[in-house]
Amino acid sequence: MVGGAHGEASGARTRPWEDPEAMLGVDEARRRVLAAVSPLPAVEVTLLDAPGLVLAEDVVADADIPPFRNSAMDGYAVRAADVASATPAAPVRLVVVAEVAAGSPAAPPLGPGQAARIMTGAPLPEGADAVVRFEETDEHEAGPRRDEVWVRGAVRRWENVRHAGEDVRAGAVVLPRGTVLGPAAIGVLASLNRATVPVHRRPRVGILSTGDEVVDLGPPLRPGQIRNSNSYTLAALVREAGGEPILLGVARDRVEDIRAKLRAAPQVDFLITSGGVSIGDFDLVKHVLQAEGEVSLWQVRIKPGKPLAFGRVGSIPLLGLPGNPVAAYVAFLQFGRPALRAMLGRTDLSLPTLRARLLAGHENAGRRRHYVRGIVERQGDEWVARPCGLQGSGVLTSVTAANCLIVLPESWHRAEPGTEVEVQLLPGVCPADWP
Ligand code: AMP
Ligand code: MG
Repeated sequence: MVGGAHGEASGARTRPWEDPEAMLGVDEARRRVLAAVSPLPAVEVTLLDAPGLVLAEDVVADADIPPFRNSAMDGYAVRAADVASATPAAPVRLVVVAEVAAGSPAAPPLGPGQAARIMTGAPLPEGADAVVRFEETDEHEAGPRRDEVWVRGAVRRWENVRHAGEDVRAGAVVLPRGTVLGPAAIGVLASLNRATVPVHRRPRVGILSTGDEVVDLGPPLRPGQIRNSNSYTLAALVREAGGEPILLGVARDRVEDIRAKLRAAPQVDFLITSGGVSIGDFDLVKHVLQAEGEVSLWQVRIKPGKPLAFGRVGSIPLLGLPGNPVAAYVAFLQFGRPALRAMLGRTDLSLPTLRARLLAGHENAGRRRHYVRGIVERQGDEWVARPCGLQGSGVLTSVTAANCLIVLPESWHRAEPGTEVEVQLLPGVCPADWP
């Protein structure tokens, strides 16, 4: 009897590669994948192409933001000392000597007892040190040549004034390298007149499906054939992860065909295959890779997604995912997505997680880390999760109903209702109320 000590339920014969204790842990497999990738070189991209990418260099401000002292309100630029005594009962009268619109050059300096009508964003005249909002004033036309304004309240010095450089000082590192460029960072770059920005390049990711039975979109299926869904699922996942998917088609289960299709891949940074990595299979991906580069065929302690190949074709990392659609999906999220994010220069590699209370029990017979598709939602002041739909590794429709993967640790044989579990939020379908 082989591996009997660790045999699965019912004491059936266990082949060595089915012994969970001998499998590669999920965390170790992920560590090995991540050890093989690093951030890609920097390229300059336009601001419209930059969101989600990671700055490859510090951005140093070459100018102040705002560039000049200006008004934060529509109102009157004043000298705060002039209106220190102003109250609604005893308003202070000032002489209006100028009107400054946003975009106009600075008005002449303000003398004692004078005010300038000023709009938000307009430069503050010399001599002024505060802005009184219109709401605190009464405006009167006083004679044909001269306006006057009555100020009904005092202002603190520099009240309603934005100083040059108060947001960004010229010479300061305003966005350090490693910053993930979100919408606000894009706006900061625009205000610094940076039309392009150095970021880590998006990985170009070749996606190859394998299988004699697998047919791409188009021709009707003949008996025994199934449609290629993996290439499209994986392309969507690659794009979500920040990569640029490049479909390499479907290879027959022949070493020459897989090799030819991989070789034909235009300049890619990462390769993903699906199928052909199971033990009972022809080990095709493994054979190709051992001839073309180096590869390991792993049995990972994960469900679904146990068989996994990882290695290189030439110098390009290759992740060989199982063919079963959900296994490919789950394994991509655990191993492929972190790798692509690392190539983008990101350091937040994992899916966001929540702790949630399980509403329904679930088996975990295989002593592997089980990723159960489920629905997590807010209930009162806690998160609750329940498995959803059929859990077979070929049943992709139940994943479309899910918004999370419920993680059952390898040491659990069963999760009882009420147990607290970790859930990974699926990209693109975050639960309502998140975060
Ligand atoms: P394999 O890993 O090659 O043994 O495939 C496992 C299962 O996944 C088989 O039922 C295949 O038909 C199915 N499969 C393999 N490749 C794909 C694909 N590209 N799209 C959908 N199903 C696939
Ligand atoms: Mg196959």
